[in-house]
Amino acid sequence: MIKSMTNEYAAKSLVPEGFVPNKALGQNFLASESVIGAILDAAQIDGKRVLEVGPGTGALTEGLLLRASFLAAVEKDGRLCDYLAAKFGDRLSLLHADVLDADLPLLMGTEPWHAVGNLPYYATTPIMLRLVSLLPASMTLMVQREAADRFFAGPKDRVYGPVAVMTACFYDAEVVVRAPRGCFSPPPEVDSVVVRLARNSTQASDASAFLNWVRQAFSMRRKTLCNNLQRNPKLPDVLETLRQPADVRAEALPPETLLWIYERLHD
Ligand code: SAM
Repeated sequence: MIKSMTNEYAAKSLVPEGFVPNKALGQNFLASESVIGAILDAAQIDGKRVLEVGPGTGALTEGLLLRASFLAAVEKDGRLCDYLAAKFGDRLSLLHADVLDADLPLLMGTEPWHAVGNLPYYATTPIMLRLVSLLPASMTLMVQREAADRFFAGPKDRVYGPVAVMTACFYDAEVVVRAPRGCFSPPPEVDSVVVRLARNSTQASDASAFLNWVRQAFSMRRKTLCNNLQRNPKLPDVLETLRQPADVRAEALPPETLLWIYERLHD
């Protein structure tokens, strides 16, 4: 069931005194206790190992700490890292880094882990792709409404691409919370939703290698799959087995077909 939130603000400000948000880092902080509660409930992370992406001023962090067995967080803004370190001390494994470059496997270890975050709008797609390449057990991600379309797109949709392919191949995804712009401080220009992605049973020997291949397959949207894959010599036979034309484009093929082609090319 999708929870739709109202424009209700929390009574207390979640932003530290005198702090000026950095727009370039997508700093729209959650300011609604009911949305924060809904995200924490949707995440289902009680007793689990959790990575929080972009903790900001800690709106979600407090609740995550109460529920998770281990919480790591990666924050790019050094001012917020100082604030969070003072607020949470060693309860939180905090890394001052860009989540796109951070050594997440080292931070999270080999046990299954779950990702949670209210993602900065300017980097939603790269952050989602970074996370999915590591196949966390679940991801509960707040994104701006338009960005959410990328998770659910299908062949021929304008925004069909690597995010939709990785989501459909490896996760069951649903929108679990809707939050209007008034739930944030400062308010962003569009409304947001929370997408919860739970790992499905599809095996992946190397999701990161598959993602790189999918990126290549979609790299030039007007080019055929054959041309984007630099005329892989095995591809014509694989396409023929599928009764697909030799000049088919990646955008015309469903996610599971792309995964099937990848596996045939790499077995
Ligand atoms: N979680 C907080 C909340 O809900 O109020 C903050 C969310 S705010 C939309 C996004 C946060 O991600 C900001 O704190 C921002 O500094 C941080 N951030 C932006 N780009 C980042 C990156 N590449 N790596 C890590 N953190 C980043």
